[in-house]
Amino acid sequence: MQSAAKEEADPEKNQGRYNLRRRKDDGDVKEAEAKSELQEERVEKVPAAPAAPAPTPLDFGGKIGAFFWMLFLPAWVLFLVLHVDQKDPSLSNFPPALPSLETFWDPQALVFVVLWILFQALLYILPVGKLSDGVLLRSGKRLKYRTNGFFAIVVSAAVVAAAVYQEVDLTYIHSHFLQLTTASFLISMMLSIYLYFRSRSTGPDERALGGNSGNVIYDFFKGRELNPRIKEFDLKFFCEMRPGLIGWCLINFAMALAEMKQQNLDAPSCSMILVNIFQLIYVVDGLWNEEAILTTMDLMHDGFGYMLAFGDLVWVPFTYTLQARYLVSHPKPLSLPLLATIIILKIVGFYIFRKSNSEKNAFRRNPSDPRLSHLKTIPTATGKSLLVSGWWRVVRHPNYLGDLIMALAWSLPCGFSHLLPWYYMIYFIILLVHRDSRDMSECRRKYGSAWDEYCRTVRYRIIPCVY
Ligand code: NDP
Repeated sequence: MQSAAKEEADPEKNQGRYNLRRRKDDGDVKEAEAKSELQEERVEKVPAAPAAPAPTPLDFGGKIGAFFWMLFLPAWVLFLVLHVDQKDPSLSNFPPALPSLETFWDPQALVFVVLWILFQALLYILPVGKLSDGVLLRSGKRLKYRTNGFFAIVVSAAVVAAAVYQEVDLTYIHSHFLQLTTASFLISMMLSIYLYFRSRSTGPDERALGGNSGNVIYDFFKGRELNPRIKEFDLKFFCEMRPGLIGWCLINFAMALAEMKQQNLDAPSCSMILVNIFQLIYVVDGLWNEEAILTTMDLMHDGFGYMLAFGDLVWVPFTYTLQARYLVSHPKPLSLPLLATIIILKIVGFYIFRKSNSEKNAFRRNPSDPRLSHLKTIPTATGKSLLVSGWWRVVRHPNYLGDLIMALAWSLPCGFSHLLPWYYMIYFIILLVHRDSRDMSECRRKYGSAWDEYCRTVRYRIIPCVY
């Protein structure tokens, strides 16, 4: 490892190592990787000495930026929630008038949100489904995760169907949207405070490199502890994949019912069906391939704090449902050619998204899998290699490209009368471009000259030929 680090520091001498080659043709690299895997194995058995984590540069505008985002994000959600309720949610009517303070609060809504989270927690702890291995941590440990998300959404769907059959009025979710949002915000805030205080008793190896600046506000926002757990219950993994994500589908479904009620329809409109099905596919796919989240930035690198807790419990369920909410009171008929275009876009986006995420996930999980031996890679001094095959040869972050194409297919059914349903698309471009730059600097820090070689080989970022 030491000699590898030396080589890394000497890119000239190192130049020959970063050739693109098919891995099965390259005995040396395979041998080097096998060695490094053996090293990893060894690390797992012998507890590593606690190393002081190297500080990473502050993100999101640093300390002042973190403070700004903490205030701005909930205010923005609130404005969106109120704005979409207006008869004419055009830009000229933004921001919407604020209702009286008591309108925000409904104890019953809080009870419903708590019950929903507890119900999802119960499904999560049931001994059903696979126990998957997480990535190797700095401490040399590997955590186990119960990946039974698909089971959770199937049971949740059955419970929702039973509730509808029993004539439970799910349009409550539409009529109490603001109160449900406030309740979820309160829960995410309480969770973030808990997470920050418990992170104070963690060792350096248990902290995320990015959320360990020493500034209370920044660390509270960014998240300090990498994998906070109560016994085997992984708080970050649970919040990332369950209450918000499955809640997103439940809210969309409730919006379809609200549309039928409000527009006096026997069935939801075609646009509403498309938005519901497309987003359901996205969530079900995420839960079916739940293991893949273990190799994403959120799980591997980001600490669990306000940014993710708010994102998982408030941002995802209450802003990603904007298109369905918009359609409740702004019906959009679709022409056949537009319908066909939207469906094709969704299929293409989904294909790129799924294929690229699966390629990277399979490679990161087991780089020596014989089924992956045809892949071209660039070795790095850390022992890990970078993929330069399949979609990862076309652009950096092809998974973001697929996601963006799908986002376009989700907005198109809402038409062009207002900018509001396009909000997700605009936000997502900003999110992914920023996420991409965050990842670029993190990877440059980790992989040094090997990363530069990767960037020379794969020139474009997210969108081929443009960025
Ligand atoms: P990635 O899954 O792409 O993870 C980035 C990590 O992958 C890097 O830090 C690096 O980690 C590794 N990596 C990067 N390039 C390569 C390469 N060439 N070969 C091998 N490994 C590489 O990004 P995200 O975690 O941001 O996103 C995962 C998915 O989630 C995406 O599809 C994204 O669109 C989606 N997403 C959706 C959001 C939503 O709100 N709908 C929000 C955020 C993401 P290392 O080298 O350390 O393994």
